[in-house]
Amino acid sequence: QKDSEVSPEKHRVTSKGRDIPEAVDTFEVLQEEYHIPSHIYQNLSKSGYKHPTSIQSHAVPIILKSRDLAAISPTGTGKTLSYLLPVMATLQAPISSIKDVTEFGVRALVIAPTRELAHQIHNECLKLAQGRKWRIVLFSKATAATLADKNVRDKVDVIISTPLRLVASLQAGSLDLRNVRHLILDEADRLLDAEFLSQIQELVAACSHPNVQKVVFSATLPAGAEKVAMDMLRDPIRVVVGLKDT
Ligand code: ADP
Ligand code: MG
Repeated sequence: QKDSEVSPEKHRVTSKGRDIPEAVDTFEVLQEEYHIPSHIYQNLSKSGYKHPTSIQSHAVPIILKSRDLAAISPTGTGKTLSYLLPVMATLQAPISSIKDVTEFGVRALVIAPTRELAHQIHNECLKLAQGRKWRIVLFSKATAATLADKNVRDKVDVIISTPLRLVASLQAGSLDLRNVRHLILDEADRLLDAEFLSQIQELVAACSHPNVQKVVFSATLPAGAEKVAMDMLRDPIRVVVGLKDT
């Protein structure tokens, strides 16, 4: 256990795990040290965000370092950007624009418990994606039908969805998640609760690439959900913002 920090301006942050990447205080440092693609960095600047929030400071470098993460931070602290920024930065460019790709298929998958939340995440992702031909898909009945075509599916960068429709497409054989490299569970307390758990387990299993990075974000993570999350993650780092570590 290391780097427990308290500062009067920020939240209390506790991180646990092996080799925890250093938190970043500014978005500029991220640009300098991690070489975020310039259009993404510019889109971030355009959004008017001056400083990363506490969870962003800690989570972004961890995700950029390809580590699995369980992040717990209160509502309204900017969890969405905490994963969208590093995932988009790691993808670098739309797959349709990359030459000599040998592996096709959906590269990142964000799962959220409600349509409304998936919609909000989609909007935030589109903002970061401006200026390049990223294919960011809010999964619905209509988009699911389009993605049944492998040629369309192969050009998709990010899918954002609730669990049930994904499971339906998987079972119908019209979705392939074998190339997913980044799997994000947002509002994981709900996704890992009884209502969704078996669907999530099926989706996690379908993301079968050996190097898939898994991250879970939540405002709270009750003991039961936390155990499920930790069993699912590989060599995870756990970051808690604003609460005493337990
Ligand atoms: P959470 O998922 O933790 O509840 P959100 O990701 O929905 O939080 O973000 C809450 C609000 O904060 C959103 O309106 C978002 O645009 C804004 N926000 C995110 N990051 C920053 C930042 N670094 N600076 C200022 N506002 C931010
Ligand atoms: Mg959120």
